[in-house]
Amino acid sequence: MMWVTPEGARPADQLELDDLPLGTMHRRYIKLGEDGIGLSLRVPVLIARGGKPGPVFGIVAALHGNELNGIPLIHRLFRDLKVEKVKGTLVAVIVANVPGLLLHQRVFNDGEDLNRVFPGRADGNCSQVYAYNLLHRIVNRFDYMIDLHTASFGRVNSLYIRANMDDEKIAHMAKTLQPQIVLNSPAPIQTLRGQAIELGIPSITLEMCNPSRIQKDVVRMSLLGVKNLLRSLKVLPGALNKSNQVSIFCSDSEWLYTSKGGFLETLPSVATVVEEGEIIARLRNIFGDVIQEYKAPYSGIIIGRSVNPIAQTGARIVHLGRITHKHD
Ligand SMILES: [Zn+2]
Repeated sequence: MMWVTPEGARPADQLELDDLPLGTMHRRYIKLGEDGIGLSLRVPVLIARGGKPGPVFGIVAALHGNELNGIPLIHRLFRDLKVEKVKGTLVAVIVANVPGLLLHQRVFNDGEDLNRVFPGRADGNCSQVYAYNLLHRIVNRFDYMIDLHTASFGRVNSLYIRANMDDEKIAHMAKTLQPQIVLNSPAPIQTLRGQAIELGIPSITLEMCNPSRIQKDVVRMSLLGVKNLLRSLKVLPGALNKSNQVSIFCSDSEWLYTSKGGFLETLPSVATVVEEGEIIARLRNIFGDVIQEYKAPYSGIIIGRSVNPIAQTGARIVHLGRITHKHD
């Protein structure tokens, strides 16, 4: 039985690409499980089957349900697309964590962080089955993948990429996208990026600044970068755009944490360079006295920072990257 779904999207049990005619666009609701009243849990997917054969390039957004900037990026990428000019296939999972998105929360509806349960299990608990099916019904068809995220609740990020820079193909993806910062970061095996790489799919994570909102300038800059990457892989036609942005490369990074509880003020903005010994945060007691100042333990760049002033002992202060070099 074929259900009628909004805006011409058709239900499907998995991502099928081979039967789609070249030069066509499609909308799918792909099933990853069933809810407690037997209705299908489906994720919305856009497909652009290009006019010429080529790689399958996958984009995934909102694996954390409150990380929204990736959604309008996908909308705009597909809206502007001339599908007959595409070489290969573009597939976008517009919302990966549908239950989380509908609850306006980061985690899945069983309270688990989906990006910590990969590869999941076919016979596992709710989040494990969902992750397993996302991987095996959709993502394993990809030849490349970008996973779109933002900072977590109570924090803000720069526009930065996490990528294993020892891998030549992955490093190329990260450099071509030209974010503010490229952080060398081998992917943990419990993440979608880690599992995609296990499947032989070169993958990067693009951190698109802040959670729970749409930032138009961030979406615009990220879209320019994604299009550049697609041009460099010949999926989209045309020459690479030289953006004005100079990416800063970091070999690694650390989060700094508070040593006691209090009212936290972080000083540097994201994507700014700080010198070793520079004061980066002040902690006050609830009566307003400064009880601790925090200094940068090494020179680096602020990748992300806390914006939540209520700091328990061990609260995050800033995410500080060690700079290797600049690249334009
Ligand atoms: Zn995330």
